[in-house]
Amino acid sequence: MIITDTHTHLYSEAFDDDRKEMIQRALELNVKRFFIPAIDSTYTKAMFQLEADYPEQVFLMMGLHPTHVKDTYKEELNHVEEMLQKRKFYAIGEIGIDLYWDKSTLSIQQEAFRHQIKLAKYYKLAIVIHCRESFDEIFEVLKEENDEHLFGIFHCFTGTLEQAHQAISFNMKLGIGGVVTFKNGKIDKYLNQINLKHIVLETDSPYLSPAPYRGKRNESSYIIKVLDKLSDIYKLPQEKIAEITTANSKDIFKV
Ligand SMILES: [Zn+2]
Repeated sequence: MIITDTHTHLYSEAFDDDRKEMIQRALELNVKRFFIPAIDSTYTKAMFQLEADYPEQVFLMMGLHPTHVKDTYKEELNHVEEMLQKRKFYAIGEIGIDLYWDKSTLSIQQEAFRHQIKLAKYYKLAIVIHCRESFDEIFEVLKEENDEHLFGIFHCFTGTLEQAHQAISFNMKLGIGGVVTFKNGKIDKYLNQINLKHIVLETDSPYLSPAPYRGKRNESSYIIKVLDKLSDIYKLPQEKIAEITTANSKDIFKV
């Protein structure tokens, strides 16, 4: 069994004291593929280090996170482009719109999102979307950019069934993480109506720990709890869920 964590911030400072042990715990549970979303240029060096330490398991994305779209966003977008010209990345992410932390930057968030979607199309890469209190705004941009080159993952999907169908109509897979294990997480109620071919697994570690670790630091090995829950929802063995979702991740990241 090979489990793929399609969204994990393994370079985060939260793991500075025990990164090696934490990754080992995941590897021992067959979590063997880690896709690493970017945040901004301050983390690039740490991401490269991670890749150098785990060349077979770690796959990097490049992008500017919506909550880091600030006064410096033009320089940051230049950094993204420079990196893309220089070497291989497996997706553009995480990108999108976040209106929970800051509504005042909406217009530059939209601009950065659009710009990075165009980069993804140019490099024939998937996009990995971060959406917080911004479904309408995100769908508006996706509608404008919708063509045969648009594809990717709606990371940490927490919307309604209707929004799930909408995301899938834009060629997006749904990234399912710890929220599916929450008592009030809601998505567990309808997920069985979504074909597994549209689903990938993620942790978003160190954030969004699944039950029973909710509120604590998350790590990639906890993806087992998400797998467990999906096995329940779809009435399929864990091995089958892992197999299908890993195959889906290969479709998206081409690796
Ligand atoms: Zn993230």
